[in-house]
Amino acid sequence: MSIFAITVFDVELGNCHVLQIPNLSKDVMMIDAGKRPDFSPALHIKNNWNVQKLRWLTITHQDNDHIEDIDNVKLLNPRTLSRPIVSMEYLENQYGYPLPDNLLKFMEYEQTFTGSALPIGDLSYDWGGVQFATFRLKPNFSPNINNLSIVTFAHFSGWTIVFPGDIETEAWDEHLKSESFRDWLSKTDIFIASHHGRESGYNKIVFDYCKPQVVIFSDKSCESSAPDLYRNDSVYGLQFYSRNANTFDTRKVLTTRKDGAIHIQIDHEGHHKITTSTTNLVTV
Ligand SMILES: [Zn+2]
Repeated sequence: MSIFAITVFDVELGNCHVLQIPNLSKDVMMIDAGKRPDFSPALHIKNNWNVQKLRWLTITHQDNDHIEDIDNVKLLNPRTLSRPIVSMEYLENQYGYPLPDNLLKFMEYEQTFTGSALPIGDLSYDWGGVQFATFRLKPNFSPNINNLSIVTFAHFSGWTIVFPGDIETEAWDEHLKSESFRDWLSKTDIFIASHHGRESGYNKIVFDYCKPQVVIFSDKSCESSAPDLYRNDSVYGLQFYSRNANTFDTRKVLTTRKDGAIHIQIDHEGHHKITTSTTNLVTV
């Protein structure tokens, strides 16, 4: 049975999503390379899942919490790297001079990717039935690099998930001008909250189009995140059984802070299963 599996790792303040593609070569992709001081998702999948190679690495944007694990990601020899293309001047305006060490390391590494690959959504790729679409804004749109985050949609067997990086309210407004973007939003079931669920990444109009089953936050602290904004009427909520508490509960928002790593599985008939590592939840 072919299963599209997505793991949202708990990397505290940061993002790391690993996608296991249901094609013959069982490709593995990563969207963002965050880590915790005591946990590297790249080393985890190498040592525990026996993943030797990443078919695709998307760095949504160059903030540290999205590139911090780059040394370990290198061990997985990603074949294709996708990231916003920005000038040195843009980066220095964003991060100051000299640029942070991890960013310099990342920039040195990106030089090793020569030639240009077709976008992940190109139909010439065989992703085992997973369809992708990406959207990005040009650097002149905003001096705030969060807004340049590459937004990726993935669709498989009737389920769609969006990975918007850290785009903020004004970038959502800009993307919403695109009919194709609105179409993808309107079929999105699993919504990874932008900018770790903070208010700055929220855009109310998005939920005029998007009626997801569940929203996922990847963050360390609840102080700056705004889960109540996402517990709105546009989010249906999913019913979970807690193996720890032996209770049933409807959840509109899952967070890595509280729930730990979040595992999503969708099979080729459209059945879904979502489990959490810390709270030990499973969809019913
Ligand atoms: Zn971030």
